[in-house]
Amino acid sequence: MSERFFFIDYSRCIGCQACLQACAECDTHRGTSMIHLETIQRRDSVQTAPQVCMHCEDPICARVCPADAIKKTPDGVVQSSLKPRCIGCSNCVVSCPFGVPKYMAEIDQMMKCDMCYDRTSVGKGPMCATVCPSGALKYTTMEEIQRTRRGIPISAWKFGNEEVTTKVHVMVPREVERVNIDLVQIAPTPAPLPEDSYDVALMLEEV
Ligand code: SF4
Ligand code: SF4
Repeated sequence: MSERFFFIDYSRCIGCQACLQACAECDTHRGTSMIHLETIQRRDSVQTAPQVCMHCEDPICARVCPADAIKKTPDGVVQSSLKPRCIGCSNCVVSCPFGVPKYMAEIDQMMKCDMCYDRTSVGKGPMCATVCPSGALKYTTMEEIQRTRRGIPISAWKFGNEEVTTKVHVMVPREVERVNIDLVQIAPTPAPLPEDSYDVALMLEEV
């Protein structure tokens, strides 16, 4: 069987929160969801967007970890921090361009989505993608996603000058090759954004 990948199609998200509930049931972090469900420009829209760990090819979270607590498996899945090593410094939390790792004060350790490695390493789908009713989260083959969706899957991102490639793919319109995120708006008076850029601070607000 062809390799299966994780795909996110933000436009299909209906905000039902089934992914949050399913993630919270995972054995490795029972009771706490590791998936983020963001709202997009909540003032003007009811659109929501799920965010999992993108499993970067060269994960900055692991690069900045002073304790070498974040490991990537040979199949490209970036694991949550190793309990005996993590010193709870939160370097990974502030460095991740997708805002994924969470510092959990009650255990003084970083936790994040590990693509349900206990399941995906034995051929099962991640909990969130298994329950998502609209197909916004999908774990399937490249052939299947290309056959059944109008958009195309991409895994290339540009944050300012930093280029990031991810194991997780996002569905975008056909003409897009890479998502450019050039500016997070922090100034009180917004500067005009380049046409292919997004103001992440305005777009995303966690549910
Ligand atoms: S998305 Fe963030 S937490 Fe996940 S591998 Fe990339 S840098 Fe690390
Ligand atoms: S919080 Fe833990 S995993 Fe994250 S950078 Fe610090 S030591 Fe490493």
